[in-house]
Amino acid sequence: MITCSRCNAANAPDTQFCQQCGLQLSSAPTGKPKMKNSLLITLIVVGCVVLSCGLCGTIAMFTPGKTEEKSQTQATPKQVASTPAAAPAPKATVAEPTGVTMANFNKLRTGMTYRQAVAILGAEGEVLSENEIGGTRTVMYQWKGGYLANMNAMFQNDKLISKAQFGLE
Ligand SMILES: [Zn+2]
Repeated sequence: MITCSRCNAANAPDTQFCQQCGLQLSSAPTGKPKMKNSLLITLIVVGCVVLSCGLCGTIAMFTPGKTEEKSQTQATPKQVASTPAAAPAPKATVAEPTGVTMANFNKLRTGMTYRQAVAILGAEGEVLSENEIGGTRTVMYQWKGGYLANMNAMFQNDKLISKAQFGLE
């Protein structure tokens, strides 16, 4: 039995309208709209979920992309910055390279001090021999170049008096 919500008349379960006042009863007639509403709500909810997921997806798609772009754009200037920074260094070494090379060996002149030689060669020499006779201190230094290449220089009272090289390039 369905009780009419307006007039409280008792109606049969299958009746759609109140037999007393004609009010649409809430069983079958209102059940279908409720089903439709729930369906609509479900669709809306699903739609919202899909939309929000889609938005989240697009946000998630965009956000890493932006960060990657940012990191790439950040990395690119760094590389650009490091490239010019690294570029002068090889240029400087090409222009005035230190190292045990034939070119630097040829720069060593008689009368140079050991320190001047080190500044040109860019490395401390290894003392091969050292002696002091009659107030004259004589030191022989050796520098190793590339594979099997080496050079040596003799300083007397810290003045270059002789030099020799082997295999320098
Ligand atoms: Zn009624």
